Amino acid sequence: MPATSMEQLVSLCKRRGFIFQSADIYGGLQGVYDFGPLGVELKNNLKAAWWRAMVYERDDIEGLDASILTHQKVLHYSGHEETFTDPLQDCKKCKNRFRADHVKDGKCPECGSTDLTEPRMFNLMFKTAVGPVEDSGNFAYLRPETAQAIFTQFKNVVDATARKVPFGIAQIGKSFRNEITPRNFIFRVREFEQMELEFFVKPGTDLDWIEKWKEARINWWIEQGLKRENIHVHDVEKEELAHYSKKTYDLEYQFPHGIEELEGIADRTDYDLGNHTRYQKELNISAHVHENKESDSKLALFDDETKKWFVPWVIEPSAGVERGVLAVMTEAYTEEKLPNGEMRTVLKLKKHLAPVKVAVIPLKRNNADIVKLAHEIKTELLKTGIGRVMFEDSGNIGKAYRRHDEIGTPICVTVDFESIEKQPATVTIRNRDTMAQERIKVSDLPAYLKAFFATK
Ligand code: ATP
Repeated sequence: MPATSMEQLVSLCKRRGFIFQSADIYGGLQGVYDFGPLGVELKNNLKAAWWRAMVYERDDIEGLDASILTHQKVLHYSGHEETFTDPLQDCKKCKNRFRADHVKDGKCPECGSTDLTEPRMFNLMFKTAVGPVEDSGNFAYLRPETAQAIFTQFKNVVDATARKVPFGIAQIGKSFRNEITPRNFIFRVREFEQMELEFFVKPGTDLDWIEKWKEARINWWIEQGLKRENIHVHDVEKEELAHYSKKTYDLEYQFPHGIEELEGIADRTDYDLGNHTRYQKELNISAHVHENKESDSKLALFDDETKKWFVPWVIEPSAGVERGVLAVMTEAYTEEKLPNGEMRTVLKLKKHLAPVKVAVIPLKRNNADIVKLAHEIKTELLKTGIGRVMFEDSGNIGKAYRRHDEIGTPICVTVDFESIEKQPATVTIRNRDTMAQERIKVSDLPAYLKAFFATK
């Protein structure tokens, strides 16, 4: 069993302002959550770490930010209109609906009744009207994955950047799925963000690349603070593969509610580029690709050696931001017994993920000189570029430390009487994990903290 329970996380998230139920004051919109003052920082930090690892640190990946509203034909030829469905069963007794694979031994998971409807297919995509006239022809989908725009913009990106395989296109953005049973807090929701990479390779090299990406992605999650033993690699059985996939590894994590998927790494073959292309026969695309008479595209590259056009194959590491946030919080959440017998809750997030990097605390909020120096220090520290530095004016040092332990602030800087009375001015800095305190010159603070946050 994982050490952290979902109740502990949900309670911390609400109490300290990480995550709130959407439309809370109206009873909540099911399967939809809002990120509060600290949640938005944590989420942005996780996305920035992914973007940095993908787009900045490598030399073979470009970025994209495509629209959420998606043309019906894109999701028709991608296969989503036909196959992006889950089997659904209704309980005739309690009237709840469930995914058929969540019904165990023919019993309703809610009330235990065996009086259930036969499974029927339910499409998970949201539709919305486009323009002022609501008729059946004027609609678009809210994308169920960010990937499709990467395929439909493939040619534009290649033309603009002169990329050759192997290379990738990365994107972070919202996706929407009308999940039948959203549950487990932010684990399964109807509106979420994905961090997706489509990595284009030469046909025949795909199985090598999926192994490389599996390793790279496990290592990245470890850098975000997950323990290797809590990440499970699931080699998805043939019968369970998505409609586009030849091979998939699921990276699963030991969440509080059980071991479930955090990220999928799929070999999507030439399925997507092939399906959005009109010249399949000429291009010799895999047999499972549908004929497409409607697009004008030739989503292919010219091979200078063979002098032939070919359709790249695709390896796709696709991770959910919400599941990532849940995983790093699960791992970081710690309750410790102090030598004096008291308990303290600490969120031992990696420094680069911490919502607040440094809290600057004036010991006395009604002492103008102390408050002034604390403000000056905050302004100076912001210039170092380490991230959010917060002026913490709660007025009680014990409470301030407790709060910043709980939200994972790696360093607290306290300005006290000695800071304003003696020259050169000094402050106390306190380390979140060790609780060790040391006195340091104000003039040394920027360099000290820059060095501290430069290490992992
Ligand atoms: P599951 O089997 O759990 O429904 P999936 O296999 O359908 O997930 P993918 O289509 O592979 O998921 O999507 C890639 C990633 O997007 C997932 O690994 C997950 O992190 C995230 N994701 C997918 N659906 C949801 C959802 N409803 N809520 C939150 N994150 C999601």
